[in-house]
Amino acid sequence: MSRVLRDGRLVDGRRVDIEITDGLISGVHDTGTASRDLPFEDLGGWLVLPALAEPHAHLDNALIAETVPNLRGDLQGAFEAGDAAAAAGKITHEGIVARAVQAIELLLVHGVTAVRSHVAVGGRFGVDRVVALQEAKSHFEGLIDIQLVALTLSPMTGTEGAENRAALEAAVEAGVDLIGGCPHLDPDGSGLIENAIAVATEAGLGIDLHVDETLDPTVLTLRDLARQVQKGGFEHPVGASHCVSLGMQTPEVQAEVAEEVAAAGVSVFCLPQTNLFLQGREHLTATPRGLTAVQALQQAGVLVAAGADNVQDPFNPVGRSDPLETAALLVMAGHQTPDDAYRMVSNAAREGIGLPRLNVEVGSPADLLVIDSESTREAIADQPMSRRVYHRGELVASADQRTVVHYSP
Ligand SMILES: [Zn+2]
Repeated sequence: MSRVLRDGRLVDGRRVDIEITDGLISGVHDTGTASRDLPFEDLGGWLVLPALAEPHAHLDNALIAETVPNLRGDLQGAFEAGDAAAAAGKITHEGIVARAVQAIELLLVHGVTAVRSHVAVGGRFGVDRVVALQEAKSHFEGLIDIQLVALTLSPMTGTEGAENRAALEAAVEAGVDLIGGCPHLDPDGSGLIENAIAVATEAGLGIDLHVDETLDPTVLTLRDLARQVQKGGFEHPVGASHCVSLGMQTPEVQAEVAEEVAAAGVSVFCLPQTNLFLQGREHLTATPRGLTAVQALQQAGVLVAAGADNVQDPFNPVGRSDPLETAALLVMAGHQTPDDAYRMVSNAAREGIGLPRLNVEVGSPADLLVIDSESTREAIADQPMSRRVYHRGELVASADQRTVVHYSP
């Protein structure tokens, strides 16, 4: 069954009627010229953009900032806060499911139709959190695509890591989409990468690691990851999230490593919110921003996308689950143009998590963000909450913002 979204504005200013059939765009016509016989919705001249994607979330932690305050404000403080809350019994299955559902709803209403979430596996959690997120995910069938990455806790290597490795096997059994972990936090980072690749190969899954989430330039497991992926001929998609320490290297080293990352086909996810919050607290002068070397990676041809990472949890007490916030930070802290920043939170993010790109043209999946803005730049600047979100041609979320100035009579 076909239908028409009437009078949308394209980024080039053209006003169009968009015909949709079976979840795909089947026609783009000048406004007023699409078939009048089909059911329609009026877009009122709002801007039509490719839908947003969130390539790096932590839905098992989201929206818990009030219960789990991070008193130190750094990465270690966040881990300590999480451990203390868990030991005190403040984190329940029901609570995780309810907050994850709320976080997914927030993503949807902002225009996200695909999300990749890491979920802690091992330690005291075992696979409990995987089960909780699968339950949350079950509420969103047909509304949003959700991928889960088994974020294996460290140590993942050696005798000490046996329990966490067993938990990872159980998570694969329970049904996760990718293998994850943190090589820079493991006693044997190189071994962790090797193990992640071995488990992923066996399971036929991709990997997405938290890589070098530190300003310490002597830590550079990203190069190791690129080399191991290339040397072993690993065939599934590989994502490297954070890559903070690459931003602390000399331009020469950045360029060399970026070449290796490009050659290995590794995608990089830049995560400005959490990196700006957690990193650099010990640098009182010229505080580094903690973002990866975005420009060097782009110049080498690496796919660089961006995500919001933590949302209102001990790793970042703020954040709104709106990739337009991420895009604004890419403009301000990452020196991207608004158009490039938008691509990094929409089509690049989709490609980075293995989904097809979107365009307002015939044949494209009809995943669209329709927003009350004149241009992409204005959408990023104003981030208006007047939006319509379409997933495979279906309206999946709406928001209408009303503001009033009460001049005195
Ligand atoms: Zn993360």
